[in-house]
Amino acid sequence: MIKNDPFVNATKQLDDACKILKIDQGTRDYLAMPNKIIRVKIPVKMDNGKIRVFTGFRSQHNNDRGPYKGGIRYFNPEGGVEYMEREVMALSAWMTWKCAVVDIPMGGGKGGIYLNAKTEKISDGELERITRRFAFTISEIIGPQKDIPAPDVYTTGREMTQIMDTYEKLHGVTNQPGIITGKPISVGGSLARNVATGLGAAYCVREAAKVVKLKLKGAKVVLQGFGNAATFTGEYLEKMGAKVIAASDSKGSIINPNGIKTNNLLEYKQKKGSVVGYPGSKKISTEELLTTKCDILVPAALENQINAKIANNLKCKIIAEAANGPTLPEADPIIYKKKIIVIPDILANSGGVCISYLEWVQNNMGYYWTFNEVAKKMEDHITRGFRDTYALSKKHQVDMRRAAMVLAVSRVVEAFNQRGLWP
Ligand code: GLU
Repeated sequence: MIKNDPFVNATKQLDDACKILKIDQGTRDYLAMPNKIIRVKIPVKMDNGKIRVFTGFRSQHNNDRGPYKGGIRYFNPEGGVEYMEREVMALSAWMTWKCAVVDIPMGGGKGGIYLNAKTEKISDGELERITRRFAFTISEIIGPQKDIPAPDVYTTGREMTQIMDTYEKLHGVTNQPGIITGKPISVGGSLARNVATGLGAAYCVREAAKVVKLKLKGAKVVLQGFGNAATFTGEYLEKMGAKVIAASDSKGSIINPNGIKTNNLLEYKQKKGSVVGYPGSKKISTEELLTTKCDILVPAALENQINAKIANNLKCKIIAEAANGPTLPEADPIIYKKKIIVIPDILANSGGVCISYLEWVQNNMGYYWTFNEVAKKMEDHITRGFRDTYALSKKHQVDMRRAAMVLAVSRVVEAFNQRGLWP
């Protein structure tokens, strides 16, 4: 029995949308299960000469609207390998909905390897051998028009380049950058991809602030999980006039009601390895962080952070889910009753995949846009996604998560109905 099974949570969200859209049972079943999920063995020779076997996954949820798209994470969730399998299944479904909600012509995929390079002290050489062996193992099911991976938790442009290089060598081609996104600029990456998730989340917060009539100038922001997404969400919200007052990472949480400059905090974290101990701040618990009185709460860590107990104690106006799946289903009705507007993960963090899509488009045409051109195109997708979602939440009198799912599911069903079933 898997505790807080993310795939059960993802399926529950789908069921809610199917009910509102009056979708028949067969179509619901079709949408629930991934089209394909593979689990692979990754044997690697470690630096000490011994062989070690890792486990990897790729889940391809749906491709009715376009090729599978989604990240690859290197992580060891507490629940173990079995939990990770369910997690990538859920995350691949969320990718399907994410691409549909911001209307990019791609489907949903997700993958990963069960490992923690940091705590297990895996060397760069070992990590490269693991990455390339994984790329070799899944090379038949991925491809620039089939399934396009990207970075996710604890993977970066470096791993993406190694996957691309392995794929190109295996297929005897020299220039296939569209096989993967999130690449460094020098090998076909897109400008703005590194800030994409945070910038997209900030655009969403800006739109949400308009509907709840919150002035961003002086608005207080709490960031949970001070990684790439949270850093840039914080930075762009600061540019819009807001002020970060608390932040956390895997080592702990800190607060300073007078404000914390994200740039300075990032510099501190890069030096010391954590936000904890940042000058002028006080250490607090995760629960205190999440329930701090603020205007904008940005959960940007992992799944299952906001449960019913935390939801009951939330003191914010807007939640922008920069992480995937941070809120448990039990918390949603409580948050809705408290009239807190939630920008659900599939919308709030879709900036990443939006710019991944734009990276892939640039790779396909072999012509590259400026930072502003890319950011503007992403802004258009994301603000439209927000407005469409908000309109549906009013129309159906449901929370934003249900509304986003209704929007996404209806778009995927439309494509599925156009295609029909074959054979
Ligand atoms: N891993 C990111 C996500 O969960 C990005 C996926 C992508 O760019 O394909 O949205």
